[in-house]
Amino acid sequence: MKKTFKALCAGAILGVASMLPAQAANFTLVNLDPPGIGFNDPAPATPVGGNPGTTVGQQRIIAYSRALQLWGSVLKSDVQIIVLGSFSPLTCTATGGTLAQAGAYNGELNFPGAAVANTIYPEALANSLAGFDLYTGDPASPDGAFIDGADIIAFFNGNIGTPGCIEGSTWYYGLDSNAPAAKTDFLNVFMHELSHGLGFANWVNEQTGARAGGLNDIYMTFQKDIATGKLWSQMTAAEIRAAAIRDGQEVWVGPNVTARAPGILDRVKLLTITAPAAVAGQYDFLGGASFGSVPTSAAFTGDVVAGVPVDGCAPLSNAVAGKVAIVRRGTCGFAVKALNAQLAGAKAVIIANNVAGTGPVGMGGTDPNVTIPAISVGTNDGNNLIAAGTSASAGFQPHPTRIAGLASDGHLRLYAPTVVALGSTASHWDVVAEPSLLMEPFNTPLLEASHNVDLTLALFEDIGWKTEISLAGCGAGSGSRGASLTGEIYAAPIFVCSDTAATKGDFQSCTVQHLSSLRNAGLISGATKGTLGVCAANGK
Ligand SMILES: [Zn+2]
Repeated sequence: MKKTFKALCAGAILGVASMLPAQAANFTLVNLDPPGIGFNDPAPATPVGGNPGTTVGQQRIIAYSRALQLWGSVLKSDVQIIVLGSFSPLTCTATGGTLAQAGAYNGELNFPGAAVANTIYPEALANSLAGFDLYTGDPASPDGAFIDGADIIAFFNGNIGTPGCIEGSTWYYGLDSNAPAAKTDFLNVFMHELSHGLGFANWVNEQTGARAGGLNDIYMTFQKDIATGKLWSQMTAAEIRAAAIRDGQEVWVGPNVTARAPGILDRVKLLTITAPAAVAGQYDFLGGASFGSVPTSAAFTGDVVAGVPVDGCAPLSNAVAGKVAIVRRGTCGFAVKALNAQLAGAKAVIIANNVAGTGPVGMGGTDPNVTIPAISVGTNDGNNLIAAGTSASAGFQPHPTRIAGLASDGHLRLYAPTVVALGSTASHWDVVAEPSLLMEPFNTPLLEASHNVDLTLALFEDIGWKTEISLAGCGAGSGSRGASLTGEIYAAPIFVCSDTAATKGDFQSCTVQHLSSLRNAGLISGATKGTLGVCAANGK
Protein backbone atom coordinates (compact mmCIF):
# COMPACT_ATOMS: atom_id res chain seq x y z
CA MET A 1 0.00 0.00 0.00
CA LYS A 2 1.21 3.44 -0.81
CA LYS A 3 0.08 6.97 -0.06
CA THR A 4 1.10 9.24 -2.86
CA PHE A 5 1.86 12.92 -3.06
CA LYS A 6 2.03 13.22 -6.81
CA ALA A 7 2.25 16.99 -6.78
CA LEU A 8 5.70 16.87 -5.29
CA CYS A 9 8.78 16.98 -7.42
CA ALA A 10 12.17 15.57 -6.68
CA GLY A 11 14.68 17.63 -4.78
CA ALA A 12 18.32 17.35 -3.86
CA ILE A 13 19.70 15.49 -0.87
CA LEU A 14 20.77 18.04 1.69
CA GLY A 15 24.25 18.23 3.07
CA VAL A 16 24.34 17.85 6.82
CA ALA A 17 25.71 20.85 8.63
CA SER A 18 27.09 19.01 11.61
CA MET A 19 30.58 18.52 12.88
CA LEU A 20 29.95 14.81 13.28
CA PRO A 21 31.04 12.79 10.24
CA ALA A 22 27.48 12.16 9.09
CA GLN A 23 24.12 12.20 10.72
CA ALA A 24 23.43 9.29 12.97
CA ALA A 25 21.73 6.08 11.97
CA ASN A 26 20.61 6.23 8.41
CA PHE A 27 18.32 9.26 8.19
CA THR A 28 18.49 11.17 4.91
CA LEU A 29 16.70 14.45 4.28
CA VAL A 30 15.44 15.25 0.80
CA ASN A 31 14.83 18.96 0.21
CA LEU A 32 11.68 19.55 -1.85
CA ASP A 33 11.88 23.35 -1.85
CA PRO A 34 12.57 25.32 -5.02
CA PRO A 35 15.51 27.76 -5.16
CA GLY A 36 15.19 30.82 -2.92
CA ILE A 37 12.36 29.39 -0.80
CA GLY A 38 12.07 27.45 2.44
CA PHE A 39 15.25 25.44 3.03
CA ASN A 40 16.90 27.54 0.30
CA ASP A 41 15.86 30.93 1.75
CA PRO A 42 18.95 33.17 1.38
CA ALA A 43 17.76 35.85 3.86
CA PRO A 44 20.54 36.61 6.38
CA ALA A 45 20.13 35.22 9.91
CA THR A 46 22.05 35.63 13.15
CA PRO A 47 23.36 32.41 14.74
CA VAL A 48 21.17 31.49 17.70
CA GLY A 49 20.99 28.87 20.46
CA GLY A 50 23.87 26.73 19.15
CA ASN A 51 22.68 26.95 15.53
CA PRO A 52 25.58 28.48 13.54
CA GLY A 53 23.65 29.06 10.26
CA THR A 54 23.95 32.53 8.75
CA THR A 55 20.94 32.34 6.43
CA VAL A 56 17.37 31.39 7.25
CA GLY A 57 17.66 28.40 4.91
CA GLN A 58 20.87 27.17 6.56
CA GLN A 59 19.40 27.46 10.03
CA ARG A 60 16.38 25.43 8.93
CA ILE A 61 18.57 22.68 7.50
CA ILE A 62 20.76 22.57 10.62
CA ALA A 63 17.79 22.36 13.00
CA TYR A 64 16.09 19.79 10.79
CA SER A 65 19.26 17.71 10.66
CA ARG A 66 19.61 17.87 14.45
CA ALA A 67 16.19 16.27 14.86
CA LEU A 68 17.22 13.50 12.47
CA GLN A 69 20.45 13.03 14.45
CA LEU A 70 18.59 12.85 17.77
CA TRP A 71 16.12 10.19 16.63
CA GLY A 72 18.88 8.46 14.69
CA SER A 73 20.97 8.17 17.85
CA VAL A 74 18.13 6.37 19.62
CA LEU A 75 16.32 4.13 17.13
CA LYS A 76 17.91 1.03 15.69
CA SER A 77 17.58 0.47 11.95
CA ASP A 78 19.92 -0.96 9.36
CA VAL A 79 17.87 0.60 6.58
CA GLN A 80 18.22 4.22 5.49
CA ILE A 81 15.18 6.32 6.49
CA ILE A 82 14.37 8.84 3.77
CA VAL A 83 12.56 11.98 4.97
CA LEU A 84 11.05 14.38 2.46
CA GLY A 85 11.07 17.94 3.80
CA SER A 86 9.62 21.27 2.74
CA PHE A 87 9.38 24.71 4.30
CA SER A 88 6.93 26.10 1.78
CA PRO A 89 3.82 28.02 2.93
CA LEU A 90 0.93 26.07 4.54
CA THR A 91 -2.65 27.15 5.26
CA CYS A 92 -2.92 29.87 7.88
CA THR A 93 -4.74 33.02 8.95
CA ALA A 94 -3.54 36.00 10.99
CA THR A 95 -4.39 34.26 14.28
CA GLY A 96 -3.94 30.55 13.64
CA GLY A 97 -3.06 27.84 11.21
CA THR A 98 -0.97 24.79 10.53
CA LEU A 99 2.55 24.88 11.94
CA ALA A 100 3.52 21.62 10.36
CA GLN A 101 2.18 18.33 9.08
CA ALA A 102 3.98 15.06 8.76
CA GLY A 103 3.44 11.37 8.52
CA ALA A 104 4.55 8.05 7.15
CA TYR A 105 4.86 8.16 3.35
CA ASN A 106 4.13 4.48 2.86
CA GLY A 107 2.90 1.51 4.86
CA GLU A 108 3.63 -2.21 4.70
CA LEU A 109 1.97 -5.41 5.86
CA ASN A 110 2.83 -9.10 6.08
CA PHE A 111 6.55 -8.44 5.56
CA PRO A 112 9.30 -10.63 7.06
CA GLY A 113 9.56 -9.67 10.73
CA ALA A 114 6.02 -8.30 11.09
CA ALA A 115 4.80 -9.26 14.56
CA VAL A 116 1.10 -8.94 13.73
CA ALA A 117 -0.39 -10.27 10.49
CA ASN A 118 -2.62 -8.28 8.11
CA THR A 119 -1.72 -5.08 9.96
CA ILE A 120 -0.21 -1.89 8.52
CA TYR A 121 3.20 -0.78 9.80
CA PRO A 122 4.69 2.63 8.93
CA GLU A 123 7.42 2.22 6.30
CA ALA A 124 10.44 3.16 8.44
CA LEU A 125 9.46 0.72 11.19
CA ALA A 126 8.62 -2.04 8.70
CA ASN A 127 12.02 -1.62 7.03
CA SER A 128 13.83 -1.79 10.36
CA LEU A 129 11.96 -4.96 11.35
CA ALA A 130 12.52 -6.62 7.97
CA GLY A 131 16.17 -5.58 7.88
CA PHE A 132 16.01 -4.43 4.26
CA ASP A 133 14.24 -1.74 2.24
CA LEU A 134 10.77 -3.09 1.48
CA TYR A 135 9.92 -0.39 -1.02
CA THR A 136 12.79 1.13 -2.91
CA GLY A 137 10.61 2.84 -5.46
CA ASP A 138 8.84 2.24 -8.70
CA PRO A 139 10.97 3.24 -11.70
CA ALA A 140 7.82 3.78 -13.75
CA SER A 141 6.41 6.30 -11.31
CA PRO A 142 6.13 9.81 -12.75
CA ASP A 143 7.42 11.36 -9.53
CA GLY A 144 10.72 9.51 -9.67
CA ALA A 145 11.94 6.33 -8.10
CA PHE A 146 13.89 8.01 -5.35
CA ILE A 147 10.99 9.91 -3.83
CA ASP A 148 8.72 6.96 -4.42
CA GLY A 149 10.90 5.01 -1.99
CA ALA A 150 10.55 7.68 0.70
CA ASP A 151 9.54 6.74 4.25
CA ILE A 152 8.43 9.98 5.93
CA ILE A 153 7.16 13.33 4.70
CA ALA A 154 7.25 16.54 6.76
CA PHE A 155 5.98 20.00 5.78
CA PHE A 156 6.65 23.12 7.85
CA ASN A 157 4.99 26.46 7.48
CA GLY A 158 7.64 28.85 6.21
CA ASN A 159 5.19 31.74 6.31
CA ILE A 160 4.46 32.05 10.03
CA GLY A 161 5.11 35.51 11.35
CA THR A 162 4.45 37.15 7.98
CA PRO A 163 1.35 39.33 7.42
CA GLY A 164 -1.80 37.18 7.47
CA CYS A 165 -0.15 34.05 8.92
CA ILE A 166 -0.02 33.50 12.70
CA GLU A 167 1.22 37.06 13.03
CA GLY A 168 3.47 37.87 15.94
CA SER A 169 5.02 34.39 16.05
CA THR A 170 8.12 33.19 14.27
CA TRP A 171 10.17 30.02 14.25
CA TYR A 172 13.10 29.70 16.64
CA TYR A 173 15.90 27.63 15.10
CA GLY A 174 18.13 27.34 18.19
CA LEU A 175 19.16 23.79 19.14
CA ASP A 176 18.82 24.32 22.91
CA SER A 177 15.04 24.15 23.51
CA ASN A 178 15.24 27.73 24.76
CA ALA A 179 12.86 29.66 22.50
CA PRO A 180 11.76 33.10 23.70
CA ALA A 181 8.04 33.41 24.54
CA ALA A 182 6.97 34.90 21.21
CA LYS A 183 8.70 32.27 19.09
CA THR A 184 7.85 28.68 18.17
CA ASP A 185 10.63 26.17 18.84
CA PHE A 186 11.25 24.44 15.53
CA LEU A 187 13.32 21.60 16.97
CA ASN A 188 10.55 20.68 19.42
CA VAL A 189 7.95 20.82 16.63
CA PHE A 190 10.01 18.73 14.25
CA MET A 191 10.84 16.12 16.90
CA HIS A 192 7.05 15.89 17.37
CA GLU A 193 6.28 15.68 13.65
CA LEU A 194 9.02 13.18 12.93
CA SER A 195 7.52 10.99 15.66
CA HIS A 196 4.26 10.86 13.72
CA GLY A 197 6.19 9.73 10.67
CA LEU A 198 8.00 7.05 12.68
CA GLY A 199 4.72 5.52 13.85
CA PHE A 200 3.07 7.74 16.49
CA ALA A 201 -0.24 7.81 14.62
CA ASN A 202 -3.01 5.49 13.64
CA TRP A 203 -4.30 5.11 10.07
CA VAL A 204 -7.97 5.45 10.99
CA ASN A 205 -10.42 8.17 9.97
CA GLU A 206 -12.13 8.96 13.29
CA GLN A 207 -14.95 10.87 11.59
CA THR A 208 -16.08 7.84 9.58
CA GLY A 209 -14.52 5.03 11.60
CA ALA A 210 -12.97 3.72 8.39
CA ARG A 211 -9.65 1.91 8.45
CA ALA A 212 -7.00 2.60 5.80
CA GLY A 213 -7.64 0.05 3.08
CA GLY A 214 -10.01 -1.70 5.50
CA LEU A 215 -7.03 -2.95 7.52
CA ASN A 216 -5.89 -2.57 11.09
CA ASP A 217 -2.66 -0.71 11.77
CA ILE A 218 -0.13 -1.53 14.48
CA TYR A 219 -0.90 1.63 16.51
CA MET A 220 -4.60 0.85 16.91
CA THR A 221 -3.79 -2.58 18.34
CA PHE A 222 -2.66 -0.71 21.49
CA GLN A 223 -5.59 1.73 21.66
CA LYS A 224 -8.28 0.69 24.12
CA ASP A 225 -11.70 2.12 24.91
CA ILE A 226 -12.41 1.77 28.63
CA ALA A 227 -16.19 2.10 28.18
CA THR A 228 -16.46 -1.05 26.06
CA GLY A 229 -13.24 -2.76 27.07
CA LYS A 230 -12.38 -3.24 23.38
CA LEU A 231 -9.20 -2.49 21.49
CA TRP A 232 -9.72 -0.29 18.44
CA SER A 233 -8.47 -3.16 16.30
CA GLN A 234 -11.47 -5.18 17.53
CA MET A 235 -14.10 -2.53 16.76
CA THR A 236 -16.53 -1.91 13.93
CA ALA A 237 -16.42 1.46 12.18
CA ALA A 238 -19.46 2.59 14.19
CA GLU A 239 -17.76 1.60 17.44
CA ILE A 240 -14.64 3.53 16.46
CA ARG A 241 -16.71 6.64 15.70
CA ALA A 242 -18.33 6.44 19.14
CA ALA A 243 -15.08 5.72 20.99
CA ALA A 244 -13.12 8.50 19.26
CA ILE A 245 -15.08 11.21 21.11
CA ARG A 246 -15.27 9.51 24.55
CA ASP A 247 -13.01 12.05 26.24
CA GLY A 248 -10.99 10.47 29.04
CA GLN A 249 -11.82 6.87 28.11
CA GLU A 250 -9.34 6.20 25.31
CA VAL A 251 -6.03 4.82 26.58
CA TRP A 252 -2.73 3.31 25.38
CA VAL A 253 -2.21 -0.22 26.72
CA GLY A 254 1.34 -0.86 25.48
CA PRO A 255 3.49 -2.25 28.31
CA ASN A 256 6.48 0.12 27.98
CA VAL A 257 4.40 3.31 28.21
CA THR A 258 2.31 1.87 31.03
CA ALA A 259 5.37 0.89 33.06
CA ARG A 260 7.22 4.20 32.63
CA ALA A 261 4.40 6.76 32.79
CA PRO A 262 4.16 6.92 36.62
CA GLY A 263 7.90 7.70 36.80
CA ILE A 264 7.60 10.63 34.39
CA LEU A 265 4.22 12.15 35.19
CA ASP A 266 3.40 14.34 38.20
CA ARG A 267 0.58 13.91 40.67
CA VAL A 268 -2.58 15.80 39.73
CA LYS A 269 -2.63 19.34 41.09
CA LEU A 270 -5.97 20.80 42.14
CA LEU A 271 -7.07 24.42 42.47
CA THR A 272 -7.96 24.88 46.15
CA ILE A 273 -10.80 27.31 46.95
CA THR A 274 -11.09 28.14 50.67
CA ALA A 275 -14.09 30.54 50.77
CA PRO A 276 -16.98 31.14 50.63
CA ALA A 277 -18.09 27.83 52.11
CA ALA A 278 -20.58 27.20 49.29
CA VAL A 279 -17.76 26.77 46.74
CA ALA A 280 -14.84 25.73 48.96
CA GLY A 281 -13.11 22.60 47.76
CA GLN A 282 -10.58 21.26 45.28
CA TYR A 283 -11.09 21.78 41.54
CA ASP A 284 -9.62 19.95 38.58
CA PHE A 285 -7.93 22.32 36.20
CA LEU A 286 -5.78 22.22 33.08
CA GLY A 287 -2.70 24.36 32.42
CA GLY A 288 -0.46 24.07 29.39
CA ALA A 289 -2.19 26.77 27.29
CA SER A 290 -0.28 27.61 24.12
CA PHE A 291 -0.14 31.32 25.17
CA GLY A 292 0.81 33.22 28.33
CA SER A 293 3.29 32.32 31.05
CA VAL A 294 3.53 29.05 32.94
CA PRO A 295 0.77 28.76 35.60
CA THR A 296 2.21 28.75 39.13
CA SER A 297 0.47 28.18 42.42
CA ALA A 298 1.44 31.68 43.55
CA ALA A 299 -0.16 33.31 40.51
CA PHE A 300 -3.46 31.57 41.29
CA THR A 301 -3.43 32.38 45.02
CA GLY A 302 -5.69 35.23 46.20
CA ASP A 303 -9.11 36.57 45.27
CA VAL A 304 -10.86 35.01 42.27
CA VAL A 305 -13.25 37.53 40.67
CA ALA A 306 -15.84 36.89 37.93
CA GLY A 307 -15.10 39.16 34.97
CA VAL A 308 -17.48 41.70 33.40
CA PRO A 309 -18.33 40.85 30.67
CA VAL A 310 -18.22 37.26 31.83
CA ASP A 311 -17.23 35.95 28.38
CA GLY A 312 -14.07 38.08 28.53
CA CYS A 313 -14.46 39.12 24.90
CA ALA A 314 -13.94 42.82 25.77
CA PRO A 315 -11.49 44.36 28.25
CA LEU A 316 -12.86 43.60 31.74
CA SER A 317 -14.58 46.64 33.26
CA ASN A 318 -14.74 45.53 36.90
CA ALA A 319 -12.03 45.61 39.58
CA VAL A 320 -9.76 42.68 38.82
CA ALA A 321 -6.41 44.44 39.14
CA GLY A 322 -3.96 42.24 41.04
CA LYS A 323 -6.58 39.47 41.27
CA VAL A 324 -7.33 36.22 39.45
CA ALA A 325 -10.10 36.83 36.88
CA ILE A 326 -12.50 34.06 35.87
CA VAL A 327 -14.31 34.23 32.51
CA ARG A 328 -16.33 31.75 30.46
CA ARG A 329 -15.38 29.98 27.23
CA GLY A 330 -17.19 31.02 24.01
CA THR A 331 -17.64 33.77 21.37
CA CYS A 332 -13.93 34.69 21.14
CA GLY A 333 -10.63 32.85 21.40
CA PHE A 334 -8.92 31.80 24.62
CA ALA A 335 -5.96 34.12 24.05
CA VAL A 336 -8.33 37.06 23.47
CA LYS A 337 -9.96 36.45 26.87
CA ALA A 338 -6.58 36.19 28.56
CA LEU A 339 -5.43 39.45 27.01
CA ASN A 340 -8.64 41.23 28.07
CA ALA A 341 -8.13 40.08 31.67
CA GLN A 342 -4.52 41.20 31.51
CA LEU A 343 -5.47 44.63 30.13
CA ALA A 344 -7.70 45.12 33.21
CA GLY A 345 -4.75 44.32 35.48
CA ALA A 346 -5.57 40.70 36.41
CA LYS A 347 -2.50 38.70 37.47
CA ALA A 348 -3.90 35.42 36.15
CA VAL A 349 -7.01 34.13 34.39
CA ILE A 350 -9.25 31.09 34.77
CA ILE A 351 -11.35 30.15 31.74
CA ALA A 352 -14.43 28.07 32.55
CA ASN A 353 -15.55 25.50 29.98
CA ASN A 354 -19.09 26.02 28.61
CA VAL A 355 -19.98 22.55 27.32
CA ALA A 356 -22.46 20.95 29.74
CA GLY A 357 -21.04 18.15 31.87
CA THR A 358 -17.45 18.43 30.65
CA GLY A 359 -14.18 19.08 32.44
CA PRO A 360 -11.34 21.51 31.78
CA VAL A 361 -10.40 22.14 28.16
CA GLY A 362 -7.00 22.35 26.44
CA MET A 363 -6.47 25.93 25.28
CA GLY A 364 -4.86 26.67 21.92
CA GLY A 365 -4.29 30.02 20.21
CA THR A 366 -1.36 32.40 20.24
CA ASP A 367 -0.81 36.02 21.20
CA PRO A 368 2.68 37.09 22.22
CA ASN A 369 1.13 40.05 24.11
CA VAL A 370 -0.38 37.69 26.67
CA THR A 371 2.03 37.46 29.60
CA ILE A 372 -0.26 36.30 32.43
CA PRO A 373 -0.86 32.57 33.01
CA ALA A 374 -4.16 30.88 32.14
CA ILE A 375 -5.83 27.67 33.33
CA SER A 376 -9.20 26.14 32.50
CA VAL A 377 -11.77 24.53 34.79
CA GLY A 378 -14.79 22.33 34.04
CA THR A 379 -18.22 23.73 33.18
CA ASN A 380 -20.00 23.03 36.50
CA ASP A 381 -17.05 24.14 38.61
CA GLY A 382 -16.70 27.30 36.54
CA ASN A 383 -20.39 28.12 36.79
CA ASN A 384 -20.22 27.81 40.59
CA LEU A 385 -17.17 30.05 40.89
CA ILE A 386 -18.69 32.63 38.55
CA ALA A 387 -21.97 32.58 40.51
CA ALA A 388 -20.03 33.19 43.73
CA GLY A 389 -18.74 36.51 42.34
CA THR A 390 -15.61 36.59 44.49
CA SER A 391 -13.95 33.59 46.10
CA ALA A 392 -10.60 32.94 47.79
CA SER A 393 -7.97 30.60 46.35
CA ALA A 394 -5.04 28.99 48.16
CA GLY A 395 -3.40 28.05 44.84
CA PHE A 396 -2.52 24.53 43.66
CA GLN A 397 -2.32 21.51 45.98
CA PRO A 398 -1.25 18.02 44.82
CA HIS A 399 -3.72 15.15 45.03
CA PRO A 400 -2.33 12.43 47.31
CA THR A 401 -2.46 9.65 44.69
CA ARG A 402 -3.90 10.60 41.29
CA ILE A 403 -1.32 10.90 38.46
CA ALA A 404 -1.87 13.58 35.80
CA GLY A 405 -2.58 11.86 32.50
CA LEU A 406 -3.51 8.38 33.66
CA ALA A 407 -7.07 7.07 33.36
CA SER A 408 -8.82 5.25 36.17
CA ASP A 409 -7.44 1.93 34.87
CA GLY A 410 -3.82 3.10 35.19
CA HIS A 411 -3.17 3.54 31.45
CA LEU A 412 -2.08 6.78 29.81
CA ARG A 413 -4.93 8.70 28.19
CA LEU A 414 -5.04 9.44 24.47
CA TYR A 415 -6.46 12.71 23.11
CA ALA A 416 -10.18 12.21 22.43
CA PRO A 417 -12.00 15.57 22.45
CA THR A 418 -15.81 15.51 22.16
CA VAL A 419 -15.55 16.79 18.59
CA VAL A 420 -13.15 14.84 16.34
CA ALA A 421 -10.03 16.80 15.43
CA LEU A 422 -8.95 14.85 12.37
CA GLY A 423 -5.22 14.21 12.48
CA SER A 424 -5.10 15.03 16.20
CA THR A 425 -7.70 12.77 17.80
CA ALA A 426 -6.20 9.51 19.15
CA SER A 427 -2.78 10.09 17.60
CA HIS A 428 -1.61 12.19 20.58
CA TRP A 429 -1.50 11.96 24.37
CA ASP A 430 -4.31 13.71 26.19
CA VAL A 431 -3.64 17.30 27.26
CA VAL A 432 -4.26 16.36 30.92
CA ALA A 433 -0.76 14.85 31.21
CA GLU A 434 1.62 16.86 33.43
CA PRO A 435 4.32 17.76 32.79
CA SER A 436 3.43 18.42 29.16
CA LEU A 437 4.55 15.61 26.87
CA LEU A 438 6.18 15.92 23.45
CA MET A 439 3.28 14.12 21.79
CA GLU A 440 0.40 16.22 23.11
CA PRO A 441 -1.50 17.98 20.31
CA PHE A 442 -0.47 21.51 21.27
CA ASN A 443 3.05 22.85 21.32
CA THR A 444 4.12 24.31 24.67
CA PRO A 445 7.35 26.13 25.53
CA LEU A 446 8.14 23.69 28.34
CA LEU A 447 9.20 20.90 25.97
CA GLU A 448 12.91 20.08 25.76
CA ALA A 449 13.12 17.76 22.78
CA SER A 450 16.74 18.82 22.22
CA HIS A 451 17.58 16.17 24.81
CA ASN A 452 14.40 14.55 26.15
CA VAL A 453 11.51 12.77 24.41
CA ASP A 454 9.70 11.66 27.61
CA LEU A 455 7.28 8.80 26.77
CA THR A 456 7.56 8.93 22.98
CA LEU A 457 10.30 6.31 22.91
CA ALA A 458 8.29 3.97 25.15
CA LEU A 459 5.45 4.08 22.61
CA PHE A 460 7.90 3.36 19.80
CA GLU A 461 9.11 0.30 21.71
CA ASP A 462 5.50 -0.80 22.18
CA ILE A 463 4.85 -0.77 18.42
CA GLY A 464 8.04 -2.71 17.73
CA TRP A 465 11.00 -0.31 17.41
CA LYS A 466 14.31 -1.51 18.81
CA THR A 467 16.45 1.13 20.47
CA GLU A 468 20.18 1.53 21.01
CA ILE A 469 22.64 4.37 21.36
CA SER A 470 24.48 5.00 18.10
CA LEU A 471 26.40 7.86 16.56
CA ALA A 472 27.15 9.08 13.10
CA GLY A 473 26.37 5.93 11.22
CA CYS A 474 28.22 3.56 13.54
CA GLY A 475 25.53 1.58 15.26
CA ALA A 476 27.72 1.05 18.22
CA GLY A 477 25.47 0.43 21.12
CA SER A 478 24.76 -3.26 21.07
CA GLY A 479 22.93 -3.98 24.28
CA SER A 480 22.65 -0.31 25.23
CA ARG A 481 19.44 1.69 25.17
CA GLY A 482 19.30 4.95 23.24
CA ALA A 483 17.69 6.88 26.07
CA SER A 484 16.98 6.67 29.77
CA LEU A 485 13.67 5.39 31.15
CA THR A 486 12.65 9.03 31.58
CA GLY A 487 13.34 9.78 27.91
CA GLU A 488 16.72 11.51 28.23
CA ILE A 489 18.58 10.95 24.92
CA TYR A 490 22.06 9.68 25.77
CA ALA A 491 23.77 11.11 22.69
CA ALA A 492 22.30 14.63 23.09
CA PRO A 493 25.26 16.02 25.09
CA ILE A 494 27.63 14.78 22.37
CA PHE A 495 25.76 16.90 19.82
CA VAL A 496 26.13 19.86 22.17
CA CYS A 497 29.88 19.11 22.36
CA SER A 498 29.84 19.35 18.56
CA ASP A 499 28.05 22.74 18.69
CA THR A 500 30.29 24.34 21.28
CA ALA A 501 33.81 22.90 20.98
CA ALA A 502 36.24 25.21 19.21
CA THR A 503 38.72 22.52 18.13
CA LYS A 504 38.73 18.83 17.34
CA GLY A 505 40.64 18.21 20.57
CA ASP A 506 38.01 20.07 22.62
CA PHE A 507 35.27 18.09 20.91
CA GLN A 508 36.94 14.76 21.64
CA SER A 509 37.61 15.52 25.30
CA CYS A 510 34.03 16.80 25.75
CA THR A 511 32.72 13.61 24.14
CA VAL A 512 34.97 11.26 26.11
CA GLN A 513 33.95 12.98 29.35
CA HIS A 514 30.27 12.42 28.57
CA LEU A 515 30.76 8.79 27.49
CA SER A 516 32.74 8.12 30.68
CA SER A 517 29.91 9.47 32.81
CA LEU A 518 27.44 7.19 30.99
CA ARG A 519 29.81 4.25 31.49
CA ASN A 520 30.32 5.07 35.18
CA ALA A 521 26.56 5.23 35.65
CA GLY A 522 26.28 1.73 34.16
CA LEU A 523 24.21 2.99 31.21
CA ILE A 524 26.56 1.83 28.46
CA SER A 525 29.13 -0.96 28.28
CA GLY A 526 32.87 -0.43 28.07
CA ALA A 527 32.75 -1.74 24.50
CA THR A 528 30.04 0.76 23.53
CA LYS A 529 32.00 3.57 25.15
CA GLY A 530 35.03 2.57 23.09
CA THR A 531 33.18 2.30 19.79
CA LEU A 532 31.31 5.58 20.23
CA GLY A 533 34.54 7.27 21.26
CA VAL A 534 36.16 6.16 17.99
CA CYS A 535 33.14 7.42 16.02
CA ALA A 536 33.36 10.78 17.73
CA ALA A 537 37.14 10.93 17.25
CA ASN A 538 36.60 10.69 13.49
CA GLY A 539 34.30 13.69 13.63
CA LYS A 540 34.79 17.42 13.96
ZN1 LIG B 1 0.97 15.98 16.28
